[in-house]
Amino acid sequence: MSDVRVRFAPSPTGQIHIGNIRTALFNYLFAKENDGTFILRIEDTDQERSTSEFEEVIHKEMEWLGLDWDEGANVGGDFGPYRQMERLDIYEEYIEELLNKDLAYRCYCTPEELDQMREEQKANGQPPRYDGRCRNLTEEERQELEAEGREPVIRFQSPVKEREVVVNDLVYGNVSFSSDVIDDFVIVKSDGIPTYNFAVVVDDHLMEISHVIRGEDHLSNTPKQQLLYDAFDWEAPNFAHLPMILGSDRSKLSKRSGEAYVYVSEYRKKGYLPEALVNFLSLLGWSPKDEEEILSKEEIIDRFSIDGVNESAAVFDVEKLNWM
Ligand code: GLU
Repeated sequence: MSDVRVRFAPSPTGQIHIGNIRTALFNYLFAKENDGTFILRIEDTDQERSTSEFEEVIHKEMEWLGLDWDEGANVGGDFGPYRQMERLDIYEEYIEELLNKDLAYRCYCTPEELDQMREEQKANGQPPRYDGRCRNLTEEERQELEAEGREPVIRFQSPVKEREVVVNDLVYGNVSFSSDVIDDFVIVKSDGIPTYNFAVVVDDHLMEISHVIRGEDHLSNTPKQQLLYDAFDWEAPNFAHLPMILGSDRSKLSKRSGEAYVYVSEYRKKGYLPEALVNFLSLLGWSPKDEEEILSKEEIIDRFSIDGVNESAAVFDVEKLNWM
């Protein structure tokens, strides 16, 4: 095994769609090509929307496509994937560290107060961002707010003022984000569960992930994650964001856009061969140097590299799958 360690980190909050499974596939291919380790991590911290049924579907579709994962948690003698809800103690330790270093603080603002803050900022032509009003509460003030029954969230004390945060991405190159988009973002919700941006950084660090390969929709979260890596003095992994998948009419692929084949289960039920789907998905945003289009999984693994991932959106054309 090499030092290449990648993960597929789905949230079990809905049916697995082809965008998710393409991410799983690209991680798998990159791990195999580099003799690395492919990890499955279930990001189930959204307790209202996560279900074990949706997690089952993730396993089923990965198994169908032969995307076997190499490493997971060993909980209660059962070798399963890592699950974030089974790792809350770990996150707590790192939250404490940020609180102790004054890099995070409890915020007692109510949703109404936050709305009002945003309205005022809008009226003054300012970008909406948390203004840091709970940063320097005294112990007495905190106790008063708690006595009112307010349940705090924990915010990261963002060091960003006027500067930009630059993310170096293996697909998109250097992408700079203005400080306007990064305020003191929430890292623990009022129910005590960490947010995605926090849990993902702790996990990717502890799991020694070398390359984070995921959908382009997460590029805008990356500067926040970068700041958390800096706060812990951890080296960030390499990031590679995969281009969006558009429907054949170039609109965003979604069930609502009327595209028939959004969910992986539909392909399985309609009798498509898993090998054909792997081949089809591999070409959504990646092209082999020799431009060969009909490839077995082994041939794709041999050719796969992040250099071949394109920046521009991948257009989904089910006709192509029909002749594969
Ligand atoms: N749980 C996130 C999702 O399903 C994964 C984000 C990531 O890979 O960092 O979109």
